Amino acid sequence: MARNTEAVCRKCRREGIKLCLKGNRCDTDKCAFKRRPKAVPGMHGARQAKLTDYGIHLREKQKVKNYYGVLEKQFRKYFSMAERRKGNTGKILMELLERRLDNIVYRLGFGASRSQARQWVSHGHIHVNGKRCDIASYLVRIGDVITVKNKPKSKSAVKLVIEDNDREVPDFLWRDDAEIPKGIVTRLPSADDVTLLVDSALIVELCSK
Ligand code: SF4
Repeated sequence: MARNTEAVCRKCRREGIKLCLKGNRCDTDKCAFKRRPKAVPGMHGARQAKLTDYGIHLREKQKVKNYYGVLEKQFRKYFSMAERRKGNTGKILMELLERRLDNIVYRLGFGASRSQARQWVSHGHIHVNGKRCDIASYLVRIGDVITVKNKPKSKSAVKLVIEDNDREVPDFLWRDDAEIPKGIVTRLPSADDVTLLVDSALIVELCSK
């Protein structure tokens, strides 16, 4: 499976925005972006020329890819899915990405970061509607019940994360911190539920060329 192995904090510095890819560390003074917000990575980062029009469009796309942890091929698939549907392509694209199971696990607070949430899913710690689902790209539907595997190791790992973070659960989800942590998708997320500040119209312009 292809992976993006670039150092995660570099991605925030590259995009000039906190993408919060490292869990709790992102809220501390150890955050590399907080310490050096203007330091663009790379040997010539400091004297990087003004972005071209193409560069501005590209950065918006890369921002979204890095935020959700998807690679180009997968991103293109979401884009063509969004293009085929009726409505605003940019908004639909963001809604599709927001519906990914790894993102939902993260938004429920079961994972400290999206990458940890993805690991919970791919390692089989997450069940959807009572069945193991290890596909991080699974798109959740209304009424889907997301539970943690009923094994002490899975439950304690997720409970530790829940206790450790005070992230608010968005209103399209409902979380139950019972013996087995559980979440329900009460409605499909809209583009307004996306916490990342992005101009999706620029992405549509870039990908439609
Ligand atoms: Fe980005 Fe988090 Fe690293 Fe800060 S600590 S630069 S928010 S990934």
